[in-house]
Amino acid sequence: MITSPRFNEIFGFYRDKKLTYELLIKQLIGKQDPVASGVIEASLNRDGRFDLDYSLKRFDNEKTRWVTLTGTLTYDKNDKPDYITGLIYDITEQKLDNIRKNDFIAMVSHELKTPLTSIHGYVQLLVNKAKKTEDTFTINALHKASTQIKKMTSLINGFLNLSSFESGKIQLNKAVFEIGDLIDEIVEEIKLTNICHTIEVYPCPVLTVYADRDKIGQVINNLLSNAIKYTPGNKAIEIHCNEINGMMQLSVEDEGLGIKPQDQEQLFNRYFRIENDQMLNTSGFGLGLYLSAEIVKRHTGEIWVKSDWGKGSRFYFNLPLDHSHTKK
Ligand code: ADP
Repeated sequence: MITSPRFNEIFGFYRDKKLTYELLIKQLIGKQDPVASGVIEASLNRDGRFDLDYSLKRFDNEKTRWVTLTGTLTYDKNDKPDYITGLIYDITEQKLDNIRKNDFIAMVSHELKTPLTSIHGYVQLLVNKAKKTEDTFTINALHKASTQIKKMTSLINGFLNLSSFESGKIQLNKAVFEIGDLIDEIVEEIKLTNICHTIEVYPCPVLTVYADRDKIGQVINNLLSNAIKYTPGNKAIEIHCNEINGMMQLSVEDEGLGIKPQDQEQLFNRYFRIENDQMLNTSGFGLGLYLSAEIVKRHTGEIWVKSDWGKGSRFYFNLPLDHSHTKK
């Protein structure tokens, strides 16, 4: 291995101490040897380059450093991996900034939740009081306030989830449940606040999964809310659920704005929102699909989209079916 002095320094090796590949592997935190384990080969992209993030312990003072490793793998005449050329960047500051930003988001979201819960409580109290005097104007106004509070709570929850996902603190509380029951519950709830669109749930066979019910509920909720948000007028939204290749597969289909192929590739990225005139009037932070994808991936499922620009979109996700647990 031939390395530059700066490369050695990033690993905490100075002039007199030679950095060998074996010593380098020892400094990586929680990762296997990227060459021997085939990680580099597996991560090669179309133009034959790789791009990997690692954290390492400096050899001299044991401090943690984050690095990005980019490079090219060259093959020999027999198509066997021959050698790697690459660069290493120290991204410790960006990582620390990210950690600080996540902590800040978590703290602010947490602080905002408490007063919001109390406002919601008072609104409920007022609804009950107005019901006694049959004051329909006040009841309607309070219902609208309540809808806005729910919207704000779900935005704040999005940020709270984001920070716990990023810091790896997310916990899945798995239980056995039937996906059809969950779909019905969510659709009932959404119908209370949305009277424009018709939501059609196609008959779903009995499909039992072992998963975090609340979090999978969030995924379905996100897909449905998006279908409503990005479908002007009163067009129908369809939910299908089936067993496909031994997995539970759920899809939410709309006849809304649709998504261009180049945007489809980025949809599940954090903070990604499509920028065009039609999207100007919709609110959001571009977190829903990112969080949904994280949740599905942690359940070893997949999430994807098929869409025709101008015609509509169909979002899919799947989850392993549960065969080992029986419903009590
Ligand atoms: P948000 O809706 O808060 O912006 P999401 O992560 O849920 O965040 O969605 C990211 C972006 O993907 C949206 O801003 C929108 O541009 C696009 N999008 C999501 N769902 C749909 C849909 N059903 N039809 C058209 N565009 C969609």
